[in-house]
Amino acid sequence: MTRRGQMVVVSGPSGAGKSTICKRLLQDARIVFSVSATTRKQRQGEVDGRDYHFLSRDEFRAKVERGEFIEWAEVYGNLYGTLRKPMQTTLESGKTCLLEIDVQGALQLKAIGEPGIYVFIAPPDFEVLRQRLVQRNSETPEALERRLHKAEDEYRERVKYDHVVVNDDLDHAVQRVREIIGLSEPARS
Ligand code: ADP
Ligand code: 5GP
Repeated sequence: MTRRGQMVVVSGPSGAGKSTICKRLLQDARIVFSVSATTRKQRQGEVDGRDYHFLSRDEFRAKVERGEFIEWAEVYGNLYGTLRKPMQTTLESGKTCLLEIDVQGALQLKAIGEPGIYVFIAPPDFEVLRQRLVQRNSETPEALERRLHKAEDEYRERVKYDHVVVNDDLDHAVQRVREIIGLSEPARS
């Protein structure tokens, strides 16, 4: 394929602020979100095809067998994967393709030598991470502990990324990622 755009992978522990940062980055029309497929249940407010492609486990498995995913992983009991085709379309169009994926998925892409910019979003510390997850109010107490425990293992993997951005002040973190991907200046019309 003629690859004109760049792939940007944003990953890091749950609660570090990946979604929040990606939402801000997506205000730039030169950046296109890679809509993942998942077997997890659709949450209130989520739109099929915009936030995720919601699939049954059988549908997901069939896509795995057909080689439709460039990476996929099981995260907290659900399957998640990045579809090859839409990513190629974005890259061919010259736009930046933004992947918000977990650490296992990011490291799979690195392992196959997928060209791109790999950014690890880190929390300022684990106490702040806990507070953010508590405030988000999206997990049961057990699920929250599981995410915090996993966060410590994921944090050790940060050295494998091209860049680590500490999400302390949100505006600073967003600006730092924009600089890293070379889109800190507003688009000229
Ligand atoms: P992730 O996508 O990495 O799981 P989220 O983007 O959902 O994390 O962020 C987790 C929680 O922390 C959310 O409630 C979000 O509003 C909040 N948050 C994100 N970034 C910051 C920040 N820089 N300062 C304070 N709160 C933040
Ligand atoms: P959530 O269910 O909260 O939307 O996402 C759970 C985790 O799955 C997050 O860490 C998110 O980054 C990750 N994730 C989302 N899409 C993908 C994907 O396509 N591949 C991988 N490996 N992880 C993903």
